[in-house]
This record gives sequence, structure tokens and C-alpha cells, in this order.
Amino acid sequence: MARRDIDLNRCLFHYTNITCNRCQEICPQGAIHNREIDRKKCDNCGLCTAVCPTGAITSDTDYDSCLTAAQKLAPQVLMCRKVSPQSMACLGALNRRLLWALAEKQPLAMDTSRCAQCNPAVQNWLAQEITACNQALQKAGKETIKLVHVKDSAPAPQAVARRSFFRSLFHAASDTAAEIAQAQTERQYAFDGTIWLDKQDTSPCQLFPGLEITDSCTACGLCTMLCPEKALVISDSEAGKKLHFNPIKCTACGLCVNNCPQSILKLLPSFAGQTEFSLQEDTPPAPPADSSFTLQRG
Ligand code: SF4
Ligand code: SF4
Repeated sequence: MARRDIDLNRCLFHYTNITCNRCQEICPQGAIHNREIDRKKCDNCGLCTAVCPTGAITSDTDYDSCLTAAQKLAPQVLMCRKVSPQSMACLGALNRRLLWALAEKQPLAMDTSRCAQCNPAVQNWLAQEITACNQALQKAGKETIKLVHVKDSAPAPQAVARRSFFRSLFHAASDTAAEIAQAQTERQYAFDGTIWLDKQDTSPCQLFPGLEITDSCTACGLCTMLCPEKALVISDSEAGKKLHFNPIKCTACGLCVNNCPQSILKLLPSFAGQTEFSLQEDTPPAPPADSSFTLQRG
């Protein structure tokens, strides 16, 4: 049974003026409803991880370590556990931005040859994300992602072997006791793709969102407080106030745009190069007309 959950502290449902249902919409098993994952239906494909803008999906797969391990292979290659027991359970958690971060630095190969038979939804998702990433790589004059077929390696240890291990360890007779022990010893990982991208020193490209300020901003700072990824920062120097936008951290969640009191922020589907915006000072409101008074001398 898959061990996948939604961390409601990170989920966007907390915020007003925003509706997010991306995980539920993409789940091919219909396993997500009202921000709860039915573990019996979930097959651990990771598509919800790929689309969640806040890294709210937790799972028993340590994607961070899996990606780092793939980077160390020569040549760098991404494959799933069907090919190699040390790899991630499924490649469905990958998206175009993660692929870009891997492929922009060194040539990347992927083995998706078993996806169509295993999970057609993952096959379709990966085809779309690889195509988008390859277009960006081509535009940047970099090598595109190569699709390869890696021969099967030794099968992963069977779950039943682990179960019998716990049985002997705790002298427990029932399967239930062994499963509880197993659940307690296996970790649940939260994977925030933007933190991983930031650690990789990823360069921005057309795969990342852009931001536009359509009118004069009062520098109230609400967007910087709301942004869950800290993609927006206001600086104040002699040259005046500036809003700094980091496209690598932005997940296009829409919180800043939907909550800006002036309604002047606009998300762009593709980053066009602007990361700094000059702002005007927040002008104090003029006093109401009837609040004027004169000093009386006695
Ligand atoms: S995709 Fe993420 S933020 Fe959106 S509803 Fe699902 S868990 Fe919440
Ligand atoms: S900059 Fe705006 S859209 Fe991007 S992550 Fe922050 S709040 Fe969301």
C-alpha cells in the first residue's frame, strides 16, 4: 500500500482568494478527494508531487536523494525502480523544471521504456514534460534529453522478506503487528521541488514563470509576506525600493496575484528576463476634508 499524504499545513487551501485542486485533478487513480489520499487506491506514481506548487505531498520516496544519486551516474540517467531497485518508485514526480535543472548542467538520459505498459498517465505526463524541456534545452543550445533502455537489474527484495524480518524481531505473530512496525521504521519525506532547484543553482529559462507589474505599486509588502516560496523580496536602498522576483522559486501558485490590494501583479507563463521592479513609496492617505482644525489661543 502506498504511503502518500498531504501536509495540510503546506497546502494552499489555507489561503483565501485561491483555489487549488491540482493534485486531485491529475491523479489517474482518483485517489485524492478533498485533500485526502486514499492509500488503497494510490499507486505511488508521484504525479501529485509533480504538480503541487507548495511541496505539500509527503511520501516514502526520498526524491531529493534519488535525484542526487541520478546526477552522480555517468552518464546521468533517470530510471524507476522497475529498472533499478535503488531508483525512485516511479518517474511521475518529475516535471519540466526538475528535468531542466538536471539537463542544463550535463547530458541527461531517461528510461521511460516501461511506462506505457505500467502507467499510461505517467507515460503521457513524461512525454509532455520531456518535450517542453527539450524545446528549452534546444533554445539554449544544450543537449536534449535522450531516451534510453537500460537492461533490468536484480529485482528489489520482496516485501514478504521484510515482513518476516519484523516478525522475528518483535516475536509478533500477526501481519498487522509487523505492518505497524514497518510503518514506524520507514520515513515519510516531504519534497519541495523549489528548494531542490534552488540548491542546484538552476538558471532561469522559458520553463519558469514570469512576473509583470501592470501599474504603480505602493510597496505595501503583502505579496512578499504571502509568497510560500519567498520568491518575492522588497529591498530598500538609496536608489529607492525595489521588488525582486526569483523565477526559480516561483511556482505560479497565484497567491501574490490574487491577493495584491492594488491588483497590479500579473503572472506570465514564461520568464522573460525581468527580476527587478522599481517601486514607489507607500503614500500616506490624505486626511479627510472635515478633519482640519485651527489652534485657538486663550
Ligand atoms: S496541489 Fe498541493 S497545494 Fe494544491 S490542493 Fe493539492 S496539496 Fe494542496
Ligand atoms: S511569486 Fe507569487 S505566484 Fe510565485 S510562488 Fe510566490 S506567491 Fe506564488
